[in-house]
Amino acid sequence: MSLLVVGTVAFDAIETPFGKTDKIIGGAATYIGHAASYFKKPINLISVVGDDFPSDAIQQMNDAGVNTDGLQVKQGQKSFFWSGKYHNDMNTRDTLATELNVLEDFDPVVPNSYQDCEFLMLGNLSPQVQMSVIDRLKNRPKLIAMDTMNFWMDIAMDPLKQVMKKVDVLTINDEEARQLSGEYSLVRASQKILQMGPKYLVIKKGEHGALLFHDDSVFFAPALPLEDVFDPTGAGDTFAGGFIGHLAYTRDVSFDNMKRAIIFGSAMASFCVEKFGTQRLIGLDKNEVDERVQEFINLVQFDIELVS
Ligand code: AMP
Repeated sequence: MSLLVVGTVAFDAIETPFGKTDKIIGGAATYIGHAASYFKKPINLISVVGDDFPSDAIQQMNDAGVNTDGLQVKQGQKSFFWSGKYHNDMNTRDTLATELNVLEDFDPVVPNSYQDCEFLMLGNLSPQVQMSVIDRLKNRPKLIAMDTMNFWMDIAMDPLKQVMKKVDVLTINDEEARQLSGEYSLVRASQKILQMGPKYLVIKKGEHGALLFHDDSVFFAPALPLEDVFDPTGAGDTFAGGFIGHLAYTRDVSFDNMKRAIIFGSAMASFCVEKFGTQRLIGLDKNEVDERVQEFINLVQFDIELVS
């Protein structure tokens, strides 16, 4: 039984108050795959790149336990490219460029060996592709999680709402939750979004942590207070990778286990932001991950006695 990850594999150019990069390796599925690989292997990937994409970056994914049989390499075409600039608070950014390139007419193929998919993580890319992958799986996975962003809400809201009807978990950031629901209050936003299809909603709030909504229950996990946030790119995808990786490893989709998955996701995201791109995420030691999770436990654990 396997974990299937869909999403962009891309080039990014990033500018933060700490510096600027030329084209580096990025993409939602790249971050998700690397983060999830600390919990569950193998991970099956579906995505597309052009012939400009370096084979050593694909090899790096393979070495981490990501199977790339479902990664199409299009000759004579360019890979997806995204460029963004962060504001001084590092919690907000402007997208400077989104070049779909090879993603424009991407028709995902689900290899036969991927059909045993038990957990499906639909990372950020066009909702039409997300829907095709769901449709092309012979059996519905035990759990389908979906991530998306404002870009797709702006240009493909209707197809996005169709995919939402088919998923169990939606992970988006606070701004996106407001855009999707038309509500400023995140509690009201969650109530509306939970009526659109997903049974669970995760709202990521960057350095302010993450909220998990389900029926009338809500859970909050902080982000780890870090001395320096170097580059937040991919933090949301890395969070999703840790989250789905833990669920796929434990095969337990209860609300209580989702709370734990949020902590694992947050721990992985806290590594991601410490360096540019995927640098900090690749080659982490399992002990480092465990220590980070322990830091989260210490951060939020307290005893209290209510005086009657
Ligand atoms: P995050 O910081 O978690 O929102 O994700 C950043 C990653 O998402 C970057 O590596 C980009 O390559 C990728 N990305 C940016 N825009 C899009 C988009 N419209 N669709 C899919 N992936 C995107």
